Amino acid sequence: MKLPLQGGCQCGAIRFEISENPLTLYACHCTSCQQQTASAFGLSMLVPRDGFKYLQGEVAVFEIPTTGKSKKLGHFCGDCGTRIAHDTAGRPALSLKAGTLDERAKLEPVGHIWVKSAQGWMIFDRDALIYETAPDDGYFALMQRYADQEYA
Ligand SMILES: [Zn+2]
Ligand SMILES: [Zn+2]
Repeated sequence: MKLPLQGGCQCGAIRFEISENPLTLYACHCTSCQQQTASAFGLSMLVPRDGFKYLQGEVAVFEIPTTGKSKKLGHFCGDCGTRIAHDTAGRPALSLKAGTLDERAKLEPVGHIWVKSAQGWMIFDRDALIYETAPDDGYFALMQRYADQEYA
C-alpha cells in the first residue's frame, strides 16, 4: 500500500493519516475482539505511533479492561461509535482497526492469533501464521512476514 494511507469512521467525523509503513496486519480471534467488533474477529494493523495522526475530529476514549498492567485505550468516534484504534501505554505502535482504512479492498492478514476461540467455520490459509493464543515472540514473525510481502 502506498503512503500516506487515510481512513476514518463510518460517519466521517474522524479522519486519520498514516505516514509510516505499517508493521503488520493480522486477525485476532479472541473473545474480546469478537465482542468489540460485534463480529467474528478483529483486524489489526500495527502502525508506528510517530506515523499516525488524526486529521479531523476528536476521538472519544474507552479504557479497555485487561488482565495486564498496561493501560489500554480504545479510540472511537463519539458520534457513530466506530472503533478506530487501540493504544496500549508503553508500546511504540498503535493497533489500528484496519477496516477503517479507505483502501480496504485488499486487507489480507499475514496471520491469525487466538485461533483457539475462532468461530468453527473459519478456514485458515495454509500459508498464514497461526497462533493458538497470543504470539510469544513479540509479534516478530508476523512483522517479518508482513515486511516480506509488502516491501519485497
Ligand atoms: Zn463517526
Ligand atoms: Zn483480540
